[in-house]
Amino acid sequence: MALTLTLLLAVTAAQAKAPALNVVVIDVCSARADHFGAYGYKKDVTPGIDAAAKDAVLFENAMAQSSWCLSNYASLFTGHTPEVHGVYAMAPRTLPKDHVTVAQRMKEAGYDTAAYSGGTWMLPDWGLNRGFDHYINTLSTGAALTAFAKKMPEMLDWVSGRGSRPFFLYASIEDLHIPYAPELHVLEEPNADGVTRDGGAGRAPLLRGADGAAPAKSDPPAPEPGLPKGRSLALPQLVTKYDASLNRTDRQIALFLSKLKERGLWDKTVVIITGDHGESLGEHGLTGHMEGLYEPMLHVPLIMHHPGFPQLKGRRYAQLVQRIDLAPTLLDIAGQPYGDMELQGASLMALFENPAAPWREYAFAASKRSTRFAKDFILDERVVRTKRWKLHWYMQRNRYELYDLQADPLEENDLADKRPDVVSNLSFELIRHLELSRPHAPGLPSGKAPSSPAGLERRTPGD
Ligand SMILES: [Zn+2]
Repeated sequence: MALTLTLLLAVTAAQAKAPALNVVVIDVCSARADHFGAYGYKKDVTPGIDAAAKDAVLFENAMAQSSWCLSNYASLFTGHTPEVHGVYAMAPRTLPKDHVTVAQRMKEAGYDTAAYSGGTWMLPDWGLNRGFDHYINTLSTGAALTAFAKKMPEMLDWVSGRGSRPFFLYASIEDLHIPYAPELHVLEEPNADGVTRDGGAGRAPLLRGADGAAPAKSDPPAPEPGLPKGRSLALPQLVTKYDASLNRTDRQIALFLSKLKERGLWDKTVVIITGDHGESLGEHGLTGHMEGLYEPMLHVPLIMHHPGFPQLKGRRYAQLVQRIDLAPTLLDIAGQPYGDMELQGASLMALFENPAAPWREYAFAASKRSTRFAKDFILDERVVRTKRWKLHWYMQRNRYELYDLQADPLEENDLADKRPDVVSNLSFELIRHLELSRPHAPGLPSGKAPSSPAGLERRTPGD
């Protein structure tokens, strides 16, 4: 009788367990949140994603971990900040071998896994292909940046061919990358701002010193005449091109979502739409996404459709969420434990279960790189923010900038001198974050074993 009851309970539990949900992550390179209608943009640039947001939850304050693609890809796939995975815009650029990736864990959970991309920083060389059954980077097969439209048919074939197995599909989209939409020829527009050096050569110009100071010998060149110096002024011509490109990207994403629906997958699939980082369009004298951690760069869209929570459709969360939160979120959806991964983010599923769940007060980002202008110039910028305050720390100059994001969302009025109390509090939190991110295994700072064990043996208590 007891055995029968046990069997009955086991069968009931198996029947009660819902089939695993598929997961799709659409990661749009260079997507800044404030150009999406769902985030308050006045122009109607993203109607497709705005409509999808109504059938999803939206995170109003989602923050990238860095200003650059590979750092942010690594944070998504490892759940760790750049201080831990170590992949900055300078060597070494390959993900260290001891980092386990989300794709590896999704595979262990029984998922079929695939990644589609076309950018340099998703090449297999960087180690992010671990755990993917199917890893397509069109750049590695010789094609230049490939439009999402061209990759979409193969992606849809792949999801359609999974049968009863759940799938994890990651797609990085490069359609919004510099030079945006070159075929749109907006350079010839009347009343253009006259800027011709818009990153068309494939790289954003570094327009000023990271601290806004007059360039010294080893600093980058002075801004070109006519460009804004330090103030948060967007360049109309770049904005026009960017918006045109974003609109084209939006149409492709909307088409992809409609194809998922046609295949009956919408109600079985969690769909996350986000950006690896944003884009500067002239604000603070910066363009592109290689340097600077101002809001155009860090504030990214994050929209999440989860068929298990229809009651949350249209809900907007104001909590500070970060790129590193996606790893535990994905593994929670897959039902895969991750306690051993020492993830630094928090699962967004906690907020789905309880929108008032305790959440972080501080969020962090880092950008570190050398430049092509001088051998020794290392840009090392760290940021900590709360819902209200944001502190920039230019480590190479030991200089701070402080902004009140509620009163000054464009970060134009530096309050570092006026509010030393806030600088002190936030710099303490930043140092604490750096300290907590440091490996704490015993050993030499270099991580190497002592060269002479005998030297250690000679020590006696009291030495
Ligand atoms: Zn990117």
